[in-house]
Amino acid sequence: MSIKQNIDRLKEKICDASVKSNRNTESVKLMAVSKFHSVEEILEAYDAGLRLFGENRVQEAVEKFTDIELMDLNLHLIGSLQRNKVKKILPLVECIQSVDRIDLLNEIAKFDEYKHVKLLLEVHTGEESKNGFTSVSDVEDAIRFGIQHSLNIVGFMTMAPFTDDKKIIRNSFAKLRQVSDTMQELFPSLHMPELSMGMSNDYEIAIEEGSTLIRVGTAIFGQRV
Ligand SMILES: *Cc1c(COP(=O)(O)O)cnc(C)c1O
Repeated sequence: MSIKQNIDRLKEKICDASVKSNRNTESVKLMAVSKFHSVEEILEAYDAGLRLFGENRVQEAVEKFTDIELMDLNLHLIGSLQRNKVKKILPLVECIQSVDRIDLLNEIAKFDEYKHVKLLLEVHTGEESKNGFTSVSDVEDAIRFGIQHSLNIVGFMTMAPFTDDKKIIRNSFAKLRQVSDTMQELFPSLHMPELSMGMSNDYEIAIEEGSTLIRVGTAIFGQRV
């Protein structure tokens, strides 16, 4: 199957999952996760209509996306970020989805000219130890820090645990939605609608649980080598 065929198929499935949960298909954005894939493959996905791309390493993002000049193309960083790479990635991205500690917000806040860059707080919602804020109070502290420093926090991101157990996956996504609901109540004046959750193997469950942005690599580009 070509990249275009994969995308067309994916769009149908997104549509089905949206209908199933009484949601508007337009409310779910599709990101192509292009890590380990070439610029040629990225262009193929762009030609098939995708405009949102995700990379998880700063160096790879810089190498592949610095010279791409395409209309409306938006890049998000979705992998863990070291403080000393913040300066390098900010000019290249519309959003950093993997903000997992205040330390990192503090670094981002140093760059006044990039205060408009969207930020998602990554929340740890599974059993295994992974990146992300682990407690609701830590998320609350991060948002307060964001307010104090005029940062543009627009929502939340999570990764479900690697498991075949759909119940565990669903619980993880439901947990992110609960964190989001709680924060929206605590900070009613903020607009934080984004829920980035769901990957190739679990995006349908994520859509049912309220995902607004799914991050899909393998189901678009095939296996990473
Ligand atoms: C690699 C990656 C994805 C995409 O994973 P697939 O299973 O290939 O769809 C999504 N989100 C993050 C954070 C990733 O690192």
